[in-house]
Amino acid sequence: MSTYLTPATDYPPVPNAQGKFGPYGGRFVPETLMPVLDEVAEAYEELRDDPGFRAEYAHLLKTYVGRPSPLTHAERLSTHLGGAQIYLKREDLLHTGAHKINNALGQALLAKRMGKRRIIAETGAGQHGVATATACALLGLECVIYMGVVDMARQEPNVFRMRLLGAEVRGVESGTKTLKDAVNEAIRDWVAHPHDTYYIIGSALGPHPYPLMCRDFQSVIGKEARTQILEQAGRLPDQVIACVGGGSNAIGIFYGFLNDTSVKLIGVEAGGDGVETGKHAARFARIENEELRIENSDDGNHSQFPQGKVGVFQGMKTVVLQNADGQIAATHSISAGLDYAGVGPEHVYLRDIGRAEYTSATDDEALNAFHTLCRFEGIIPALESSHAVAEALKRAPQLPRDHILLVNLSGRGDKDLNTVMQAAGQSLS
Ligand SMILES: *Cc1c(COP(=O)(O)O)cnc(C)c1O
Repeated sequence: MSTYLTPATDYPPVPNAQGKFGPYGGRFVPETLMPVLDEVAEAYEELRDDPGFRAEYAHLLKTYVGRPSPLTHAERLSTHLGGAQIYLKREDLLHTGAHKINNALGQALLAKRMGKRRIIAETGAGQHGVATATACALLGLECVIYMGVVDMARQEPNVFRMRLLGAEVRGVESGTKTLKDAVNEAIRDWVAHPHDTYYIIGSALGPHPYPLMCRDFQSVIGKEARTQILEQAGRLPDQVIACVGGGSNAIGIFYGFLNDTSVKLIGVEAGGDGVETGKHAARFARIENEELRIENSDDGNHSQFPQGKVGVFQGMKTVVLQNADGQIAATHSISAGLDYAGVGPEHVYLRDIGRAEYTSATDDEALNAFHTLCRFEGIIPALESSHAVAEALKRAPQLPRDHILLVNLSGRGDKDLNTVMQAAGQSLS
C-alpha cells in the first residue's frame, strides 16, 4: 500500500492539479499538445462552476436528451430470481440510445464556449461518433469523425447516421484500420489545427483533463439514481453494478454513491470467451493473478495471454492489457463498446483504495442476460449493458429479498440485433 492511498470516506477530491488519480492518469502526450490541453483544462476549470454554462447544459439535458432517465424496478425479474430486488437506471431511453450523449453534449458546449467551431472525434463501433455528430448538429459545429475502414464496413448504419447528421466521416487506412488507428489520426489532426479545433474523447480516458471532464458530465447518472432510489425504495442500494469499457457509464453512476460507504460499487469487464482463454478485455482479471500464468506456462504460449499491467497508453498512465513483451494485447468481446485494451485511470485508483471491485462476464453470460431481460422486463439492452445485468443475475439469488441491486442500463440493444441473431445461428436476411 503506497502513501497515496486514502480511506474511501475522504473521496473525492481527485484528480490533483496534475490530473492524477493517485499514481494514474496524468498527461503523456507529444510536447505540441501540451499547450492545447492546458487551454482545455483552463477553460473547463473556469466553466465547471459557471452558472450560465451549468444552466445551459442542464437545460439541454432536460429538453433535448430526455433527462432525468427513469429508474425501473425490475419486479418480474427479481421475483424470478428469488433474491435481491433489481433496479435499472434507464440510460437506454435517452436520445441516441445510450449515456454517451451526456458527455458528447457537455464537451461540445465547452468547445463552443471556447470559440472553437470545428469538432473532431474518433469512433470504433460508431456510438461515440453518432453522439458527437448529434451534439454538433444541435449546436451548429463542424464535425469530422475518424473511423478505421474495417470498422466502417462493420458498422455501416452508424456511418450513414453520422453522415445524415452532417458529419464528415474519414476512413483510416493505417495499421489494423480500427479504433486505435483512428485515435492516432484524430491526434494528428488536432496537432495540425490547434486553434479552431476541439477533440471530443468518448470515455473517461486519455490525457488530463479528459477523465475528469467525462466523469463530471456522466455523474448526472449517479446523482439522479441516488435521488430516485431514495424516493422509490426509501433507502440506498446495497450494490451498484455497471459495465466497464473505458469506464464512463460506470464512473458516472458510481459518482452518486462514492461517499455512501455502505454501497458496494461493482464494475463488470468483458470476459469474452473466458479469461482463461486469453480472448477477452478484462484488464483487471489477471492483474495480480500469478496462478493463472503459472498454470498456463507449460503450454509454452503464455506470452500470448494478455495480462493487465500498469503502462502508458493513449496519453495516460493506467492499467493496460499487455502481452509478456509489454505490447498492447489484442482484445475480444461480443460487445464493441467493451472491447478495449485500456481502462479509465480513476477506476484503477478506485480499485487500489478498495472503494470499487471489478469482475467480468463472458460473451455467453452477456447473451443470456440479454435474452433474460428481453423476456422478463420487455427491455432490449445493449450487449455492453448486458454484462452488468449478467452480474446482477449471478448475485441476486444469493441475497435476501430486501437487498437492492442498482444496475446501470447504459444503452439500448437495437444496434446489437445483428450480432445477437448471428450468435443464435440466424441472420438478418
Ligand atoms: C460505449 C458504450 C459503453 C462502454 O463505454 P464506457 O465508457 O465504459 O461507459 C457501454 N455501454 C454502451 C451502451 C455504450 O455505447
